Amino acid sequence: MNAGLTTVAYIGATILFILSLGGLSNPETARRGNLFGIIGMTIAVLVTLAGPRLTGGGNMAMVIIAMAIGGSVGVFAAVRVKMTQMPELVALMHSLVGMAAVLVGFANYFDPTSTLTGAEKTIHEVEIYIGILIGAVTFSGSVIAFGKLAGKISGAPLTLPGRHQFNFGLLIVTVILGKWFINAHGVSEGLQPLIYMTILALIFGVHMVMAIGGADMPVVVSMLNSYSGWAAAATGFMLSNDLLIVVGALVGSSGAILSYIMCRAMNRKFLAVIGGGFGTGGGAPAASSAAQPAGEVVAVSAQETAEMLRESKNVIIIPGYGMAVAQAQHTVYEITKFLRAKGINVRFAIHPVAGRMPGHMNVLLAEAKVPYDIVMEMDEINEDFPSTDVAMIIGANDIVNPSAEDDPNSPIAGMPVLEVWKATTSIVMKRSMASGYAGVDNPLFYKENNRMLFGDAKKMLDEVLNHLRSAA
Ligand code: NDP
Repeated sequence: MNAGLTTVAYIGATILFILSLGGLSNPETARRGNLFGIIGMTIAVLVTLAGPRLTGGGNMAMVIIAMAIGGSVGVFAAVRVKMTQMPELVALMHSLVGMAAVLVGFANYFDPTSTLTGAEKTIHEVEIYIGILIGAVTFSGSVIAFGKLAGKISGAPLTLPGRHQFNFGLLIVTVILGKWFINAHGVSEGLQPLIYMTILALIFGVHMVMAIGGADMPVVVSMLNSYSGWAAAATGFMLSNDLLIVVGALVGSSGAILSYIMCRAMNRKFLAVIGGGFGTGGGAPAASSAAQPAGEVVAVSAQETAEMLRESKNVIIIPGYGMAVAQAQHTVYEITKFLRAKGINVRFAIHPVAGRMPGHMNVLLAEAKVPYDIVMEMDEINEDFPSTDVAMIIGANDIVNPSAEDDPNSPIAGMPVLEVWKATTSIVMKRSMASGYAGVDNPLFYKENNRMLFGDAKKMLDEVLNHLRSAA
């Protein structure tokens, strides 16, 4: 395939990727958006295989073998992964993009066929240096994010003394090494600063994500998504591949916009997130620094829950990470259909950071075929809680924690939350009194108008549904 045709096909793929992103911005068009993305990527891969670079002397057999191995691993991971492991898988994928940028950078530097001289050579070396830098930070940062999301590494922020000075020191040394690299005579001398910088960038990636507290993880996930885009764009520069540059920039900028949306959702400044320390460990009950929640919790049965729901006019369902763990979305929708058929107004309230990845709850509810018009964003529905009879919280915790509003010393102070306690009754469905991902105790559980329905969300909801049906 000649260069002209390749360019035309690349432009076509670029347009498809833009249409794909446009489609993904709305649940109703997301499926179509995905399809555009798949077609765009198929064109990109086929055209690159048939392009002048490979047909003109590249090792096609090696590429096909590599694609077969990579493709099989991808298919295996996609088939095996549970929906709840999706966030970890995404973090792991980001790390691979980072690793690819590092490897392409080194391969480019060693390229014996390179004939570049003078300014062109310098520009190419700057591309290599920056590409490896971004790639290494993305790689190690994503591996740590994977560990934190999978619960293999504690969610507690690692706040080393003098960590800002340490980061600043790393930056200065990276610039000095960059100067050494550009002025080096020959590959063997240049390799030294390149390796030192790669090690420092790996350390920086680990340190950056280790310093970020549990509650800030949504921003980290979207930030690493953005970095992986910039790493791909840098790879595109190194390989002089226009499509990779454009696609990398699309991913990089959409990830940056998502990070901004996540920061706004959590009322946090991006630099403060990178500074780290928001939220504590996670998983176990943690004492809030001020205003210890007092009183007792009132447990209810599935039958009592069914009765409260049946007697309501307005119900708001708040899904959280626990609904994903229990895979309770289908039963939730069965209950919703039952109540709506009885004339009860049932809606869903989605917090922007509910679950473990952006849009996690929307994906699950879409999978269960919940109509989009009853799925509301936090800002659209938060004012309706005072006129709501029952707020049913399914495996959510941090996103309904009143201490974010009431307790200035709380690790999640200032984060907007769903004000479920303003409903006549709130019912929290979870297995124990354990805290959520941010590791913060939740005073909601002790409020007078709150009830706890203890147990696995799917099991309890099945029981609620049975009671609703048997009493009908
Ligand atoms: P939380 O992690 O705050 O709470 C989830 C609750 O679900 C737990 O307290 C747990 O309690 C309960 N649970 C777990 N399994 C089950 C089950 N099988 N049945 C019933 N309940 C269950 O989740 P939220 O969705 O409220 O908040 C999301 C948190 O995750 C926020 O802190 C957010 O910052 C963070 N985060 C979000 C990301 C995103 O992109 N959305 C990414 C990374 C982190 P118990 O063990 O007692 O059952």
